[in-house]
Amino acid sequence: MKSDSIFNFDNSYKKLSPKFFESVHPFPAPNPELLLLNQDLLKELDLENADKNELAQILSGNKLAVGSEPIAQAYAGHQFGHFTMLGDGRAILLGEHLTNSEKRLDIQLKGSGQTPFSRRGDGKATLKSMLREYLMSEAIHHLGIPTSRSLAVIKTGEKVYREMLQDGAVLTRIMRSHIRVGTFEFARYFGGIEYVDELMKYTTHRHFPELKEAKNQALALLEKVMELQMDLIINWTRVGFIHGVMNTDNASISDETFDYGPCAFLGKYIPETVFSSIDTHGRYAFGNQPNIIKWNLARFAETLIPLIDSDEKKAIEMATEKINEFDQKFTQKWYRMYASKLGFVEIKEGDEKLVDEFLGLMEIHQKDYTNSFTFLRMPEIFDENQFFLDEKFEAWISKWKLRIQNQEGGKQAAFDLMQKTNPVFIPRNYFVEKALETAVNGDLTEFNSFLEILKNPYEFNLENKNYLHAPEAFDAEFVTFCGT
Ligand code: AMP
Ligand code: MG
Ligand code: MG
Repeated sequence: MKSDSIFNFDNSYKKLSPKFFESVHPFPAPNPELLLLNQDLLKELDLENADKNELAQILSGNKLAVGSEPIAQAYAGHQFGHFTMLGDGRAILLGEHLTNSEKRLDIQLKGSGQTPFSRRGDGKATLKSMLREYLMSEAIHHLGIPTSRSLAVIKTGEKVYREMLQDGAVLTRIMRSHIRVGTFEFARYFGGIEYVDELMKYTTHRHFPELKEAKNQALALLEKVMELQMDLIINWTRVGFIHGVMNTDNASISDETFDYGPCAFLGKYIPETVFSSIDTHGRYAFGNQPNIIKWNLARFAETLIPLIDSDEKKAIEMATEKINEFDQKFTQKWYRMYASKLGFVEIKEGDEKLVDEFLGLMEIHQKDYTNSFTFLRMPEIFDENQFFLDEKFEAWISKWKLRIQNQEGGKQAAFDLMQKTNPVFIPRNYFVEKALETAVNGDLTEFNSFLEILKNPYEFNLENKNYLHAPEAFDAEFVTFCGT
């Protein structure tokens, strides 16, 4: 690393054909104020000794870092099913930072002004939405789920207009890469086969070098991405995460949760739950996420067709066969995940029925998703012991108790597993909003203490008992927004 530089930039994406990006410059912030800096993440990036003032200058867009060659990446995507050209309209990639252990990570500014892809947007972001992204992405990270990370939030000192004037901010987003299904769609439909081939080789080299030797690289990549995306959605389902805008441009090839605009956590177990203001048909509802990821993977497969086989008919057959494996594979993973939430170390006959019955009871009684699982392990922490006042539930509990007692390791093994698979503290909408409201008004105390709780989501702590329950009616009225 050069002695005068903060980042150790090595910008491989810029070596792709120029079609894949536009060179840009972040807009300077008139009065930057560093509100949040993620110390744990700084360490992971080997940047803990960086000069904080210098770093704040760079992350506000006011100073170009040594080695930075900022670009906006081109991509397309299916938004709510409709195909369109997109690209980084309010994000700028400063470069790829190599850590001491040679981990390559994108350092991206979000909200730092217009790019050639901004269309009619201002390229800016509100402080509230950037604080929200910081909180939610860090929560997902600490839940043990792959995600983009948030390194910093800088209040720019500029107002942005979203129905009214609000404080603007820039977030620094860290990701293994920002390659999306939509990047492949861009290569295929705005470029051609040679661009898909170039992107496929780049992606394989960067993320999946083990696939280089595969007989059919395109098919191997499809299979790999499908596997990773299934696991990601299983994880979201496990913790009750609703992404909210699973357009193909928001589906990362490197299997990271990203684009935190309208996301939210499920309260009551109602699979149709949607919080996003624009998702009027429930396309991205909690329970529809598996269908959508399959749909997105099919769009990914389509971009690879010419590379799968030169005989188009044969290539389509091969890709279709892969995509058709989704349902069975996903269902199996889904039951395994729920079985682990119920403490079953291994799947046995009858487990699927126990899972279905428990989900059914939660749904009928409209019980809180997270707390229902916590209740099984720690009923004593809830004031109400009438969690499900119901004969069917009594019958189910008896079966469940027998089931876990009779497995190897018994109840202890079950509880150990349940502790790892069931978060106790999640970012409930009510508490997120409360923390954000005080934060945008200049007081980060509540935001920071809530963030600390979310860093340890699987551990019950009596002190934080209040965070188990949000006011009953809050979620029914709660709405989230994209692009704020
Ligand atoms: P998203 O809904 O966040 O996935 O964004 C979809 C597209 O809109 C992407 O191309 C974004 O870059 C673009 N976009 C969102 N907000 C803005 C904004 N304020 N200015 C310019 N482009 C934006
Ligand atoms: Mg997006
Ligand atoms: Mg967004």
